Amino acid sequence: MLTTLRRIVLEFSQDAELDSALLRLVAQIKTALNTDCCSVYLADYQQQHFLLMASDGLAASAHGHTSIGFSEGLIGLVGQREEPINIANAQHHPHFIHTPEVQEDELNAFLGTPIIHHRKVLGILSIQQKESRNFTENEEAFLVTLSAQLATALANAEARGILLQGNDSSQSTRQLKGISGSSGVIVGRMVTVQPTVSLATVSLQKSSNTTEQLQHFTQAIELTRAEFEQMRIKLNDIINDSSLDIFEMYKQLLNNANIGHEVESKIRQGWSAVSSLKIVIDNYLLRFEAIDDHYLRERASDIRDLGNRLLINLLQQDNKQTNNKSNEDFILVAEEVTASMLAEYQHQGLKSIISMSGSNNSHAAILARALGLPAIMGVDRIPLGQLDQKVAIVDGYSGELFIAPNEALVREYQHLIAEEDALTDKVKQVANLPTITPDGRPIELVLNAGLSAGLEHSKSVGAVGVGLYRTEIPFMNRSCFPSEQEQTALYQNVLAAFPKKTVTMRTLDVGGDKSLPYFPIVEDNPFLGWRGIRITLDHPEIFLLQVRAMIRANIGHNNLEIMLPMISDISEVNEAVRLINQAYYELSAELCAEEQSKLARPKIGMMIEVPSVIFQLSDFAGKVDFFSVGSNDLTQYLLAVDRNNVQVADLYDSYHPAVLRALNIIAKESSKCLVPLSLCGELASEPAGALLLVAMGYDKLSMNAYNIARIKWVIRHVSLQKSKVILAKALSFTTAKKVHSYLNEQLELLDLGSFVRAGM
Ligand code: PEP
Ligand code: MG
Repeated sequence: MLTTLRRIVLEFSQDAELDSALLRLVAQIKTALNTDCCSVYLADYQQQHFLLMASDGLAASAHGHTSIGFSEGLIGLVGQREEPINIANAQHHPHFIHTPEVQEDELNAFLGTPIIHHRKVLGILSIQQKESRNFTENEEAFLVTLSAQLATALANAEARGILLQGNDSSQSTRQLKGISGSSGVIVGRMVTVQPTVSLATVSLQKSSNTTEQLQHFTQAIELTRAEFEQMRIKLNDIINDSSLDIFEMYKQLLNNANIGHEVESKIRQGWSAVSSLKIVIDNYLLRFEAIDDHYLRERASDIRDLGNRLLINLLQQDNKQTNNKSNEDFILVAEEVTASMLAEYQHQGLKSIISMSGSNNSHAAILARALGLPAIMGVDRIPLGQLDQKVAIVDGYSGELFIAPNEALVREYQHLIAEEDALTDKVKQVANLPTITPDGRPIELVLNAGLSAGLEHSKSVGAVGVGLYRTEIPFMNRSCFPSEQEQTALYQNVLAAFPKKTVTMRTLDVGGDKSLPYFPIVEDNPFLGWRGIRITLDHPEIFLLQVRAMIRANIGHNNLEIMLPMISDISEVNEAVRLINQAYYELSAELCAEEQSKLARPKIGMMIEVPSVIFQLSDFAGKVDFFSVGSNDLTQYLLAVDRNNVQVADLYDSYHPAVLRALNIIAKESSKCLVPLSLCGELASEPAGALLLVAMGYDKLSMNAYNIARIKWVIRHVSLQKSKVILAKALSFTTAKKVHSYLNEQLELLDLGSFVRAGM
């Protein structure tokens, strides 16, 4: 039975056409259960009815025509109860409705099961039989299991099917959901981009002329390097941000020591330049894609992009085929939007991106955020060809894509866009003003940096230092741990970029969803496992090397603070501080007198991310110089919700009353212990979050560059006194939903309506 079940689901999900998939489905179920009829109804929430889509047993003329209201008949009852209904004689059931056109007069037994996806009834699967009998437990179990498995496949097929009908311009708006890659809203025309050449289609060939192949490859490298430099320069006019480091990383990968070198050695082994490139890139992709790690999987996309660029230059081809002939404003849609596509179309009317693959860690998303372009990632159910030239609304806040939107929806979104534009203008005015509430409470806004292989500059955004420099990224884009010298050079750059402003560097925080290709960690529960400080204390050689590099880099800058991630126990702080002291004294002994005089022991702080720490704050207080709350992880651990699992994404909420109360306790306790406190999770970059945090007493908030001016604007416009009133009420609610609706309402009242969507 299990094999039959699997086969039915597999064949269903592989069918490109929804109608034929449903027809085959009902025929297969009817045969598998040896019954007289099997039918499938799909829910139409606009019409509030179930539509008979396919049946093997009911009149074919009724398919696609007969509908049953949500609260009508046995089908409606299954949907309402959200459970199977098994009846020996349906015709006598009080809910039975006689529908002559389906011709079911001879069918007596009825078993219906709901098809539910994420708590939503998508449809009803029913079997019927002439013989008046209850279906057996096994038959019921089969149908229930099948319905549960079909739900996901149906959710996908439904979207596909709906889009197929969407070719007809008279159809109403279609809605698809992806991941929000970059906030903002836009109404525009979609233009699809397909790569004309791709390494994926190259077949391997040998070449006898090694010298010529090497020459070709060197030229292609030079050309590609120049292109990346051009892209960087183009974008540099617009963003002054480390997101551009992606192009620096591409250039480094082209170097002799990296991909460039590996391709050359393949050419020397007798392969053609194109084949050598394919072999090397495929190898990289295999290694990156095999890693169960979000961030690194996204880097695979960077490598593919780089490989295809090199290929184009090797073949001297034009690189992309777009249908944007007119250079009008457009929404770029591609299977995989890459950072270089963004750079390329930036000056050709690019207003937004939609990528079938990728997530909000992709460099395309990081760049889109830096450019302020709304982006939706991971919309994986759309056939590309069907989108080209269609009008769409991109809602980068919610990750929703509306295809062929109706006039009313367009009007609604245009209103929001106008509000957004006004907001951006307003916000710009405060970029260089101090961050202070109207009643005089100064707040420090600092930067979260390091996410894109380098540092984000604070010049244009009005930040005063770095509150969280994530050091793990430079460890990821490589094939072994970076040396002390390499790390020192990197940290020097960061510290030098923020003279006289504090830069808080976090020690290596790998594990969980961030692993290193050369240091694999395989665990059943990685977020509860070997992560952050737990790894580095088990490997003091790695920890010591990193803190030595940090302390050495700080010579002459004297603006470094060191922060410890994932602390859950006092002994971890004791050990980490001991090692940092050891690094400091060892370095001191190694340095010349002049350098020695500039050597400083940095302040050491710890992150509050693990709930156990909250109950021991006073014990930690004497051990460290500052606390910084990692609200992303604190939310995950307090609520026991994996922050990367879409299945439970609805439960992950930093406005959950338990999280808000914990944050409030942390603020009170830290203040009592006189330990400086900051917060560097995403909550700080949300208007409502920032207001609540300021009211709790957090006077240092760390966030990405894009949000600094917005948050500054909010803080400058809401008094501490008012925020405290809002906080008191927000803390009294028992559910996150109530907290959200209250905060939305308050932001509206404070004339921060345009922040409501942005902030929540
Ligand atoms: C956090 O957990 O809130 C945090 C800032 O760290 P990361 O997101 O890097 O885990
Ligand atoms: Mg964290």
